[in-house]
Amino acid sequence: MNVYDSERMAEALSRDGYRETTDIAQADLVILNTCHIREKAAEKVYSDLGRIRDVKDARKRDGKETVIAVAGCVAQAEGREITTRQPAVNLVIGPQSYHRLPELIARTETTKERIVETEFPGDEKFERMKTPRRVSSPSAFLTVQEGCDKFCTFCVVPYTRGAEFSRPLAKLEAEARELTAAGARELVLLGQNVNAYHGEGPGGRSVGLAELIRSLANIDGVERIRYMTSHPRDMDDDLIAAHADVPQLMPFLHLPVQSGSDRMLAAMNRKHTAAEYIDLIARVRAARPDIALSSDFIVGFPGETDQDAEDTLALVRAVGFAQAFSFKYSPRPGTPASSLEDQVPEDVKSERLQRLQALLDEQQSDFNSRCLGDVVPVLFERRGRQPGEFVGRTPYLQLVHAAADGDLVGRMANVAVTDVRRLSLSGVVQSGVIAAA
Ligand code: SAH
Ligand code: SF4
Repeated sequence: MNVYDSERMAEALSRDGYRETTDIAQADLVILNTCHIREKAAEKVYSDLGRIRDVKDARKRDGKETVIAVAGCVAQAEGREITTRQPAVNLVIGPQSYHRLPELIARTETTKERIVETEFPGDEKFERMKTPRRVSSPSAFLTVQEGCDKFCTFCVVPYTRGAEFSRPLAKLEAEARELTAAGARELVLLGQNVNAYHGEGPGGRSVGLAELIRSLANIDGVERIRYMTSHPRDMDDDLIAAHADVPQLMPFLHLPVQSGSDRMLAAMNRKHTAAEYIDLIARVRAARPDIALSSDFIVGFPGETDQDAEDTLALVRAVGFAQAFSFKYSPRPGTPASSLEDQVPEDVKSERLQRLQALLDEQQSDFNSRCLGDVVPVLFERRGRQPGEFVGRTPYLQLVHAAADGDLVGRMANVAVTDVRRLSLSGVVQSGVIAAA
């Protein structure tokens, strides 16, 4: 979502004549878009800001001003503390205020005052940030929902992104048309809790994610649709059915479970059991047998015992994931879990994370190995590091490297998979570029 937000900020600022540069020494304005989900990400902000301040000082010696803005969830959570800890920062702006970015930047330039803007003005952001969409890749992000009302006890999202809000169907259809007109072939529907989507539809009636997906699939040029991130509790029958009958909906599901222990799931306030998750996966697989499954895991949540950690490994074995993200529990200020007794020692977290990741890595390798020799449709997104090499994705979201004489970026081609590693596949492009997945 930060990538999407950064793109939107760049689009909004381009109206004021700003252009992106990859050379920070050339930048009159630096926006650091930040993440607050774990402590490591949040702390990195201050070391990055130190480096940006050095650039600002060096430019100042050459007589050039630099505006530094901090955006994203660290901005939302820490507000004025950021300008206190790093006085070189001119503007702190939370995710719900991005529509005010051009105006606030202009104000810091003219008044030289430090501005902290972390209000939650609700839904006006998307309306007011309406600028023609550009696409840098055939796979385009589309934010359909923001915020979260679930309040898992470890998570800062409900505090930094605010209450759940879904964008109206008609607005999303319009943005999707703009994206396809600009060259997108795949839409990745984004939300902190995307399958809780309940936007306003025709006649003011509420539309769920499955109906949104069906509507977007009807738009000419939408060849692939994905969505993330989902919550198991919001995976309804209609969405499961969409995996069976919407050809554009890719056979991939990122459905975080966090833990395989019912005790931990309850303490996390996830509102489901391990057995319910496994049953849900069975229903999804019945609808789409080849679906690739992905998840997030947290190890070392307060009070987690060896048995709880074993229960997580057992769930992983029972499900079989194509890929996954796993993290050590990181106490976040203001969340209920951060003040629980029984915090798990760091070395125990590390050991549990290693065991979990070894199992997940093995499953990812197995999943990829099963593709060896297959011919898969790949949407090529960018050039690779080697000359003549292109990088794309299979329907199952695996990265694929393949060589070609022409330019494959933005094209769909069948690729015969000839080599398999844990994190990517390599293959040979079959003759004839194909039109659809
Ligand atoms: N809405 C999604 C997750 C969004 S946050 C869901 O409900 O699953 C992305 C991931 O970061 C989470 O799934 C979780 O695994 C991880 N995460 C969130 N807070 C964390 C914390 N305090 N410590 C460690 N990992 C955390
Ligand atoms: Fe955080 Fe996801 Fe839980 Fe919401 S559902 S509180 S975003 S982990």
